[in-house]
Amino acid sequence: MDDTVKVAGIKAVFLDIDGVLTDGTVLIDSSGGESKRISFDDIDAVFRIKRAGIAIGFLTGESTPFCDYVQRRFEPEFFERGCKDKVAAVKTFLSSWRLTIEQVCFVGDSLHDVPLLEYLPNSFVPMDVSDEVKVAARHVLPARRGEGVVRALASILVPISGGKSGTGSRRPPRARRK
Ligand SMILES: [Mg+2]
Repeated sequence: MDDTVKVAGIKAVFLDIDGVLTDGTVLIDSSGGESKRISFDDIDAVFRIKRAGIAIGFLTGESTPFCDYVQRRFEPEFFERGCKDKVAAVKTFLSSWRLTIEQVCFVGDSLHDVPLLEYLPNSFVPMDVSDEVKVAARHVLPARRGEGVVRALASILVPISGGKSGTGSRRPPRARRK
């Protein structure tokens, strides 16, 4: 890990869902229905990143109705559910958007995320992940899973004051046709 976050020029943010956007727990009611928890701070932070003209992508190994909710709520530029190979998914995105690995970042929290955390020069984990995941990431965010992780990332990418303004209205770059 190093402490230098090279955020200038970041065009897309990839987020894992469980344990990054959520706190990684699933609540099961008596009829077997599942629910998950997201902080409003993190919801706001996703839109803050989008308003800054940075594309949002979700990469999740899950394929549940909760994925439908996330896709509807955030209207991300990229969404891959049931994703078994996150490096391959990001490579596909980079190819179609004509971006380099330096222009994207990723936040993950589990062993499934380790290959992508190691692959990207701007990779992040929440502060409460296991040591074996933490060593794979370039940076550790000052937030626990589901408790302001995206907000912490937005504070780095889109600072309120100083550096680049977070109030811009740039649109994400459009995907180019192959
Ligand atoms: Mg996860």
